[in-house]
Amino acid sequence: MSIKNNLQNIKSSLPPHVTLVAVSKTKPVADLMEAYNAGQRIFGENKIQEMTEKWEQMPKDIQWHMIGHVQSNKVKYMIPYVSLIHGVDSLKLLKEINRLATKWRKKVDCLLQIHIAEEDTKFGLDEKELDEILKQVQNDNASFNNIRIVGLMGMATFTENQEQIKREFLHLKSIFDQHKQLTTDNCQLTTLSMGMSGDYQLAIECGSTMVRIGSSIFGSR
Ligand SMILES: *Cc1c(COP(=O)(O)O)cnc(C)c1O
Repeated sequence: MSIKNNLQNIKSSLPPHVTLVAVSKTKPVADLMEAYNAGQRIFGENKIQEMTEKWEQMPKDIQWHMIGHVQSNKVKYMIPYVSLIHGVDSLKLLKEINRLATKWRKKVDCLLQIHIAEEDTKFGLDEKELDEILKQVQNDNASFNNIRIVGLMGMATFTENQEQIKREFLHLKSIFDQHKQLTTDNCQLTTLSMGMSGDYQLAIECGSTMVRIGSSIFGSR
């Protein structure tokens, strides 16, 4: 199967309200261009340097999503062009994104990453930490003028157990639903980023609006 065929098959199976992020980490620009030529405009990378190198070489109408864990000292390299940061998991990081976005006179969209998996190797906030961050951002609009929290992101446990994955996705969906009514200028939860190659159909059944798919498009890494 070609990248183009894989992409078309996946796209035709997605409901219209679900956005596809083509996860292109480790793949060469030629592969990304194949997806681009088949119409894909949203790409996800998990390393800033790799994303920057690809951004430099590729057409400028691409939206680049940072899906990996972000270190505060690296934020400056991606602010000029990143369109959505999926893995924000601390107030400190959010403040740094806001500070640099202000410098660039940009507004940067962010998702807060929630820890839903059983493994403690996966990054993310618990519900209490989420509440605290949302409260800060909503009560102190002025300090967060250059970011917009547009939703939540999560990753299920790496397991064959579909029931467990489903439980974790539904847990994230319920957290999302609990917070989505509360909206301010810089905080409006509309995007729920969950689901990868192995579990995106289940994620969509559980309420995902954005899936991050790599190996089912580009082949294994
Ligand atoms: C690599 C990665 C994906 C894509 O994984 P596939 O199984 O290849 O679809 C999705 N989300 C995150 C955060 C990733 O790091």
